[in-house]
Amino acid sequence: MIRVTGTLIWYYFICKRQVWLMAHEINPFQNDPFLEIGRFLHAESYAREKKEIEVDGMKFDILRSKEKGSIVIAEIKKSSKFLESATMQLCFYLYRLRRIGIKARGEILVPQEKKKFEVDLDDEKIVKLEQAIVDIKNIMQAKKPPEAKKINFCKHCAYAEFCFS
Ligand code: SF4
Repeated sequence: MIRVTGTLIWYYFICKRQVWLMAHEINPFQNDPFLEIGRFLHAESYAREKKEIEVDGMKFDILRSKEKGSIVIAEIKKSSKFLESATMQLCFYLYRLRRIGIKARGEILVPQEKKKFEVDLDDEKIVKLEQAIVDIKNIMQAKKPPEAKKINFCKHCAYAEFCFS
């Protein structure tokens, strides 16, 4: 069974080739500094106020909400540069939670920039997400990855050597 994950949603909105590479478990260099800083931020920031939980195979952070009975799930990012991707990743979690009867809202936290972005799952985002899920499944089933096209993200991407050497 093809399993679409939040991480694949994130990459889909950055680079479709990366979706294929990740789905085929072609692992980039593990000590890539870009990955390292992401790990560090995830581990250290908001450590006191967050609680990581796993629901239906998804892992994310839950922040306490001031409103009674409402929960907030958060994604911690190191930059707001890729906000569309981060928003759609969070929408994917909200969508999956809604399907198992949990209503939640989202927040993208960027500790390095001291920014917070609220995310709500509206009809427009649901349509966009469902199209992305179908497309990701098609990409994953393809025999070859989409062609490499240079984009701004390539200079941060752990696959850069693989794509362009
Ligand atoms: S190096 Fe560029 S083209 Fe290759 S996977 Fe990364 S973002 Fe995509």
